[in-house]
Amino acid sequence: MSKLIIFSAPSGSGKSTIINSLRERGMKFGFSISATSRKPRGTEQNGVEYYFLTPEEFRQKIANGEFVEYEEVYTDMFYGTLKSEVDRKLTEGDVLFDIDVKGALNIKRIYGERAISIFIEPPSVDELSRRLHGRGTDSEELIQKRLAKAEYEMSFATQFDHIVVNDDLQKAIETVEKILK
Ligand code: ADP
Ligand code: 5GP
Repeated sequence: MSKLIIFSAPSGSGKSTIINSLRERGMKFGFSISATSRKPRGTEQNGVEYYFLTPEEFRQKIANGEFVEYEEVYTDMFYGTLKSEVDRKLTEGDVLFDIDVKGALNIKRIYGERAISIFIEPPSVDELSRRLHGRGTDSEELIQKRLAKAEYEMSFATQFDHIVVNDDLQKAIETVEKILK
């Protein structure tokens, strides 16, 4: 039976970097594309990184019961996992989720043993700040919002099946690979 692999971390911890390198190293998995009401950043495209919805469209899908889970991760910025997306992707193989801590624990609660939850931890909040500034994709205001939430998110780490500290990137990738094997 195909598995659900859930990644969660404060924004900027290196989740996307780790996920991309797993794929480059030949791991096969589908990706659960979430819906969000935030605007695309950088080169993001609708249906690739996210399904980008207006706040009205997002609210309508909540009302229709179309989400497995959804959260207002930052004020006025909604993110959610669509039932249709998960069902479809699970028929094709293992599915990877990149979602916030609450969403991650909800998916784990729903799918139990079928799901593996991994928390990617930054070495420190200072380093997180350096990474977010270095990435250069978010405004200063948004970076501050993300940092303000980081400590809160890190308090959920022990509820995950695994915690991987992303200090040395190569080591973190290898640890995640071992967990998944
Ligand atoms: P997330 O997906 O968790 O928001 P990203 O993968 O976008 O985070 O990483 C944020 C920034 O930190 C990127 O610029 C990335 O290149 C950098 N980064 C990722 N892992 C490390 C690491 N181990 N050491 C230093 N920089 C890193
Ligand atoms: P970003 O704006 O950096 O893409 O994502 C912000 C946060 O929203 C991250 O913590 C990300 O994991 C989370 N997120 C993305 N998709 C979902 C989702 O479907 N559900 C939940 N609960 N969080 C999500």
